[in-house]
Amino acid sequence: MLTEAFLPKNWLGAVNKFEDADWVMVGLPYDGTCSYRAGARFAPQEIRLASQGLETYSQVFDKDLSEISFYDAGELEFQFGNREDTLSKIENTAREVFGQDKKWFGIGGEHLVTLPAVKACYEKNPELTIIQFDAHADAAENYLEEKFSHATVIRRVSEIIGADNLIQTGIRSGSKEEYDWMQENKTLYNTDEELITRIKTLGGAPIYLSIDLDVLDPSVFCGTGTPEPGGMSFNELIRKLGCLEGLNIVGVDVVELSPHYDASGVSAITAAKVIREVLLLIKPLQKSNR
Ligand code: MN
Ligand code: MN
Repeated sequence: MLTEAFLPKNWLGAVNKFEDADWVMVGLPYDGTCSYRAGARFAPQEIRLASQGLETYSQVFDKDLSEISFYDAGELEFQFGNREDTLSKIENTAREVFGQDKKWFGIGGEHLVTLPAVKACYEKNPELTIIQFDAHADAAENYLEEKFSHATVIRRVSEIIGADNLIQTGIRSGSKEEYDWMQENKTLYNTDEELITRIKTLGGAPIYLSIDLDVLDPSVFCGTGTPEPGGMSFNELIRKLGCLEGLNIVGVDVVELSPHYDASGVSAITAAKVIREVLLLIKPLQKSNR
């Protein structure tokens, strides 16, 4: 299925053939555990459309999408309302991507879609470190008596990779229990200085980057299910992402756009622009020098 993109217009700048790509972009239209406002399942198609309004060239990074080889595989189709089916489809697809020595670029969807992709990524990269951009800790042991939710996803991820290998930034919301857990495990790197110091220790370690777009302030990104005031501006986010340039990023996802909460469509365009900048940050396999 991965070899047959079904949309007439793929993501801006995507290559035409799966075989030619270093990165495989997969839409993950799932929002089954959204606790407040659902709708993230509509994000992949809206982001894809919004991408067509962008340039392939980034002034900030002085790079063009033509320098990056990525394939837009379209969207996975899930059995509606079936979480198990959803998670196993994502895991199997990600395993297929990593198994062919390609890298994963997931477009959510809600944040739970990160868990199965990390599982598959970890199998291939046991030294994996996760960098999470998010307003929310997503580190609850259980949420509304549920173990697998977009509010617990990072806790579940930490059980796979080890909390030592988790870097959280932008966090400004969580329970007392979550803050205690983050403090105990030293996972929180909110200031630029803390983040940069930690990133310098990573060397060539494989990195999975998970961006929950609600890390942005609702004034610049209101199209999301759980908006949290007090967040970053767009330029602050891009500056922080710029700190990751040159890292050995092997997997990415960008999640939690819920396009219909922003009637102007600007949130979808913002999501597309974040994705473009991340694509330009990531290093093609063949140029790897670490
Ligand atoms: Mn969040
Ligand atoms: Mn999240």
